[in-house]
Amino acid sequence: MSVTIKTAHEIELMRESGHILEKVHDGLIPYIKPGMSTKELDKIGYDLILSYGCKPNFLNYNGFPGSFCISLNDEVVHGIPSDDKIIQEGDLVKIDAGLIYKGYHSDAARTYAVGEVSPDARLLMEVTKQCFFEGIKAARAGNHLNDISKAIGAHAAKFRFGIVRDLVGHGIGTHLHEDPEIPNFPQKRRGVKLLPGMTLAIEPMINLGRADVAWLDDDWTVVTMDGSLSAHYENTILITDGEPEILTLTK
Ligand code: MG
Repeated sequence: MSVTIKTAHEIELMRESGHILEKVHDGLIPYIKPGMSTKELDKIGYDLILSYGCKPNFLNYNGFPGSFCISLNDEVVHGIPSDDKIIQEGDLVKIDAGLIYKGYHSDAARTYAVGEVSPDARLLMEVTKQCFFEGIKAARAGNHLNDISKAIGAHAAKFRFGIVRDLVGHGIGTHLHEDPEIPNFPQKRRGVKLLPGMTLAIEPMINLGRADVAWLDDDWTVVTMDGSLSAHYENTILITDGEPEILTLTK
């Protein structure tokens, strides 16, 4: 599959899809608190997505059993919502969500601290978010994909954090995952040239310890190999003639 360039009409639908997803993320925030199970959060989010007339795109994606990926602490991504996973004070909660609006996908992830967390955990969250914003400084027409990857990787490297290499960002549109893949670390090749109308999900996943990750026996949940904390931050963006537009973050 080649990288798709969206028409003005498609961009309008992608924008609406992204704006609704932002509302869904914001709507979940009051429920991310001690005592909530990740399954309850998933159900609340599912109902929210449906209330906007949209569909969750993660549900049944390659058999994924939840509408949201909810990953705690050393879980990097793809945590399966469960009645047995209860959010506790001091947890890092990563919520990755996506939806389909009139056939167009959006995808965004946030990391939340529940109550007090360690200064290291706080820094990890901040730096992961900063990595996204460093990355999109390079997300301009005429640049190449590797300019984004290099910018993300360089920022995380300043803090000697582990940059997850086994999972990457991606193009997005009428499919959740489109070309190109967007690594969060420098590549040997410069990659595709960025053009106005490309829509990309840029998503640094950064570990407090080493970069290595492993898959649990559920075949979904990705955890840090060394048990260290991990953070994730993602938005769907649009390449324009000037500044990139963040479709899943308007404020
Ligand atoms: Mg994604």
